[in-house]
Amino acid sequence: MTQRRFRVLLLAGYLGLFLATAVAMTQFVAAINQHIGSDYTAAASNIVRGQHEAAKLRHATERYLANPGPALRDRILRTFNTIESREGTTRNSFDLLGLDTGTRETVVAEFERVIALLPRARELSRQALDDPAAREEFREVAMEVENSLAFVYSSLHRQTHAASAAQQRLTTWLAWAVIALGGLLLVIIAALLWAVDAVFGKNKALKRLSLTDVLTDLPNRRGLLQRVEQTLAQHRRNGRPVSLALLDLDHFKIVNDHEGHPKGDAVLQHIAGEIAQSVRATDMLARLGGEEFGLLMPETGEEGAYHLCERIRQRIEEMELPMTSEVKNLTLSVGVTTVTVDAETSFEPLYVAADRALYEAKRQGRNHTVAQT
Ligand code: GH3
Ligand code: MG
Ligand code: MG
Repeated sequence: MTQRRFRVLLLAGYLGLFLATAVAMTQFVAAINQHIGSDYTAAASNIVRGQHEAAKLRHATERYLANPGPALRDRILRTFNTIESREGTTRNSFDLLGLDTGTRETVVAEFERVIALLPRARELSRQALDDPAAREEFREVAMEVENSLAFVYSSLHRQTHAASAAQQRLTTWLAWAVIALGGLLLVIIAALLWAVDAVFGKNKALKRLSLTDVLTDLPNRRGLLQRVEQTLAQHRRNGRPVSLALLDLDHFKIVNDHEGHPKGDAVLQHIAGEIAQSVRATDMLARLGGEEFGLLMPETGEEGAYHLCERIRQRIEEMELPMTSEVKNLTLSVGVTTVTVDAETSFEPLYVAADRALYEAKRQGRNHTVAQT
């Protein structure tokens, strides 16, 4: 899969996830607004009181008709007042409990009937005290009020139970959703940390590759330059000398011509290893290109640098190549230069001086070390 295709797929996946999450969140918030925020306890206590009012009305009516008196009449009138005073909260319950349209219409119609019957019920309750003819009609109206009220409040009662169960289900769902989201978040954080770690690792590997020569695994020209800059910066502070040598194999072309390029490569690797074994841990040997090496010797004066280079030259001269059949020995020409570092010192003049010394070593017949200050 191409990187472009992969990116498009990744983006499409993300957008899909984003949309699904947005829809789920919207629905969830709507459900929360409807259920979680509602105080069903208040609605429930209003309903219970309403049911109690209906029972009280029936009880008082029966006693009043059996034994009419002003005290019972007043109690009935007070019950009517209480029913009326609860009109507002009862209507609120219809909205709060989210009744379905069919149930709501029936319940509201029934409640409207109760409210409409109240003035007549009041009037009849008063007349019933002295007028026995009004008593039967009062009984009918009072029972109608009681029946309708009972119907309204028992419907609301049932609805409160259903709504509160839905609220409980939603709360459970919410708890699971929070747990799942928390888990998802942890997974995402772990994946991000892993990705960041992988990127850092890759970066480090890339940096190392950019400073390393592929054939010999020595630092390359960029690696040496970086190290020279660091060393010069340090030596500017302590005023110590630093030496740079250029080492070039003599007549290396002959190796390629007689043994072929692959063998030539193997010889370069072998010699790089040999030279590396001769230098100190604080020195830096680099392959500058072709059959040419650079050697940086921090805190090394003229004499020390010359001797180290001579030692390397002799080692190569005395060494027999193990991988070749015709060319068994090679020699090395070395140009070395030393400076006492000050604010003006930079890589370029050091390199030029070492190169001049190398040229002189070649001119003197190769297999020489020449020092130039
Ligand atoms: P001199 O003594 O003047 O330095 O002679 P020389 O043959 O060593 O130098 P010259 O610059 O004429 O040739 C360098 C040779 O090194 C030519 C080139 O093919 C070879 N060479 C450069 N890089 C590589 C490499 O990576 N692998 C191999 N096998 N050969 C290389
Ligand atoms: Mg050469
Ligand atoms: Mg060369």
